[in-house]
Amino acid sequence: MRYIAQLVATIIQYPVKSDHDNFAHRVVSWHRRHGRHDLPWQHPRTPYRVWISEIMLQQTRVATVIPYYERFMTAFPNVETLAAAKEDEVLHLWSGLGYYARARNLHRAARIIVEEHGGRFPEEFDAVLALPGIGRSTAGAILSLALGQRYPILDGNVKRVLARHFAVEGWPGHSTVSKQLWAWSEALTPRESVADYNQALMDLGATLCTRTNPCCSDCPLAGSCRARAREAVHRYPAPRPRRELPERAVQMVVVRDGAGRVLLEKRPPTGLWGGLWGFPELPPEANALHWCRERLAPEVQADGALPGRSHTFTHFRLHVEPRLFRLENPVQGVLDGEDTLWYNPDQHRRGLAAPVQALLRELFEQEPEP
Ligand code: SF4
Repeated sequence: MRYIAQLVATIIQYPVKSDHDNFAHRVVSWHRRHGRHDLPWQHPRTPYRVWISEIMLQQTRVATVIPYYERFMTAFPNVETLAAAKEDEVLHLWSGLGYYARARNLHRAARIIVEEHGGRFPEEFDAVLALPGIGRSTAGAILSLALGQRYPILDGNVKRVLARHFAVEGWPGHSTVSKQLWAWSEALTPRESVADYNQALMDLGATLCTRTNPCCSDCPLAGSCRARAREAVHRYPAPRPRRELPERAVQMVVVRDGAGRVLLEKRPPTGLWGGLWGFPELPPEANALHWCRERLAPEVQADGALPGRSHTFTHFRLHVEPRLFRLENPVQGVLDGEDTLWYNPDQHRRGLAAPVQALLRELFEQEPEP
């Protein structure tokens, strides 16, 4: 009942058609003069290139994405090369971008496109939506930006613009709020120039209607923005309701050999840092030296520790205690296998989680010059 009332209220608030056109017109005109026209995925704007960019841009800023995108495109210029790649190679090029399920899904989707669509990126909405890792907004972005098909989008930037412009109450993660925002997005998406409009709306959210410091005085929507009229821009969109995050703790067991290599293990394919390489992990109460001597060799020596650190994820906070050990001459073959590796950064290309990369950097910076 509450949802129906909210939906009716939303529909009553809709502007008439000329107002829709006016909204789109203002956004597109602003974009012609102030938008971003030289992003690497815009030239050429093919479905494959837009797809990779849209996945990389989820939760990640444009400036961070650009060098990753360029390296990825050099290695995998089309869907066939991505489908034929090893997962380790894909994760290696993703290392540091975070949210690694995105990379694994890209890889799986590329294989599906080759097997089920003859290597051609599908051009129908339902077929795009069926690919792993592609939701409604991403499917709409690919088809609208690359092919000009009329689909609305609702990424984080667009949610913020619409929530503010129409003063939509509530956290966008709630389904009723999300439905209202989708209804606005759908109603406002123009029939013509949809690629320009969607790109413009995303750019407006990324560069003007930013989360902490919106520049309303330069905004083409300022005259009709309800949040601005109420002097309540920062109230929209409402933040995720606060909740206590559960805490977890692990020891990371960092074993180095006499040649400066580091023991890494491949993590299970799903879950935190799934499919990436990392240090063996033990519960905080485990005796790590004992574990090393049993698992590797009795000659393993304790070698100190690095400062503890914390990482916050969506669903929990992880405390990491890195413990250092040395094993001068590991016996050849011990722990060498598909899922374990004496890692040498000059020799191996593997996907590493950002905290593991950071720890390795600290370790190699610590090493005395030869
Ligand atoms: S006027 Fe301000 S709050 Fe409203 S859409 Fe523009 S930048 Fe965002």
